[in-house]
Amino acid sequence: MDVKKNGDVSFWYADMGGLPDYRAALPGDIDVDVCIVGAGFTGLWTAYYLKKANPDLSIAIIEKEFAGYGASGRNGGWCSGGFSWSRSKYLSTGTREGVIDFERQLRGTVEEVIRVCEAEGIDANIRRTDCLTFACTPAQMQRLRADQADDMAWEVPVERSHLIGAAEAAERIRIKDVQGALVTGGVARVQPAKLVRGLAEVVTRKGVTIYEQTTVTGISKGRVTTNRGTVTAHRIVRATEGFTHGISGNEREWIPLNSAIVVTEPVPDAMWDELGWSGYEVFGDASHAYCYAQRTQDNRIAMGGRGVPYRFGSKTDVNGETQAETVEKLKDILYRMLPQTRSLKLDHAWCGVLGVPRDWCTTAGLDPQTGIAWAGGYVGLGVSTSNFSGQTLADLVLDKQTERTTLPWVNRKPRKWEVEPFRWLGVHGMYWLYNLADRREAASGGQRTSRLATLANRITGR
Ligand SMILES: Cc1cc2nc3c(=O)[nH]c(=O)nc-3n(C[C@H](O)[C@H](O)[C@H](O)COP(=O)(O)OP(=O)(O)OC[C@H]3O[C@@H](n4cnc5c(N)ncnc54)[C@H](O)[C@@H]3O)c2cc1C
Repeated sequence: MDVKKNGDVSFWYADMGGLPDYRAALPGDIDVDVCIVGAGFTGLWTAYYLKKANPDLSIAIIEKEFAGYGASGRNGGWCSGGFSWSRSKYLSTGTREGVIDFERQLRGTVEEVIRVCEAEGIDANIRRTDCLTFACTPAQMQRLRADQADDMAWEVPVERSHLIGAAEAAERIRIKDVQGALVTGGVARVQPAKLVRGLAEVVTRKGVTIYEQTTVTGISKGRVTTNRGTVTAHRIVRATEGFTHGISGNEREWIPLNSAIVVTEPVPDAMWDELGWSGYEVFGDASHAYCYAQRTQDNRIAMGGRGVPYRFGSKTDVNGETQAETVEKLKDILYRMLPQTRSLKLDHAWCGVLGVPRDWCTTAGLDPQTGIAWAGGYVGLGVSTSNFSGQTLADLVLDKQTERTTLPWVNRKPRKWEVEPFRWLGVHGMYWLYNLADRREAASGGQRTSRLATLANRITGR
């Protein structure tokens, strides 16, 4: 495999000089007002907003590795304010106005993340920019037109979503065979590990205790059981996203979908002249098995995609090490879209898991009978949504009725995933069909969207 380093959680930690030292583990049994399980963005934002609302609360966060070990320290750094999957699906738990309001409030999280970083002194290489979704075939362009029509139907403002043609798209980034792009404004590029580690320091300063190297084995009313003692708490927040299946009783709640990233060596200035990309936009494409990319602060390209989508029995990776075939796949996508980069070497590859509910729609909630709250299932859009989770969960934990707690994503209860081998077959079948649909479209000149992709969506309810 042609990459210098594979795993070690992610490049983002190498960029910070290496993996962090561990904080202390849980010393034994304790009692607190609120116990949060998982020190990723969801858990940390929840602790942050709880402390802001009530500085006297005692809060413990229990983390099996270190704060930022999961997807929050490994992702592609798109802070998008984006919407996780189909708007119309949220109509089962809300009104059209409620869905529009939900999306409007989600968009606001990008500025909220920036505001908190500035106020609390977190340097996470944040840069306001646009997200460009490129179309490289007529079929992809048709899909972008449909996406934008859907945005308009749901009253998304034009500064947030508009189409540009081939010349303008190529002016931004010189993608091979580009036909146009959907421009999503109001997003930001971040260095995710800097954000999650900075947030962990901020909540610690505010009096929250993060216990690391402590694995939660069970959650029940008022009790969090770990390998190092029991935490009793009036309210408990489950913030384990892609790892949720590992906690007893939650095995089929959200599946851990795999996503992987490769990062190049620093790109020389002369190559940037060829590529454009001077706005540090985050970009993806409109293929069925889509990719995502960012230009890093130190001028590398980070390119991500699905790779091997799901491991049998909801298994997760070991410290982010990814498969050789995934590295090859991502390299091919990078060189195909940006052939100017062919001479670049890959410095790092890694992967992680994101949580996917059965209906592919995110949710946050609190069960008043047990006092257990949760948020996640962001389907790959967790960087900004987790901030909104933190705000919403703080309201729910404190029994406050706010403009957030009545939104349609609150207390949704999608059905559970199938038992194995059916969920492995379903997810692999879906991605197999996506890849085949992309190949068929490419072979036929990409005039029309392949019906195989529609079939793939039907299989898994996406
Ligand atoms: C490769 C990749 C790229 C992505 N790119 C983007 C992107 O560009 N933009 C975007 O918006 N989203 C992206 N996502 C999704 C996003 O990163 C996640 O949705 C988000 O970080 C989830 O945050 P979280 O705090 O809920 O979960 P995590 O960050 O996964 O945190 C969960 C924490 O819980 C801990 N934990 C798990 N089990 C236990 C246990 N039993 N006991 C104690 N602790 C436990 C874990 O160690 C972990 O630290 C990406 C995800 C991946 C994997």
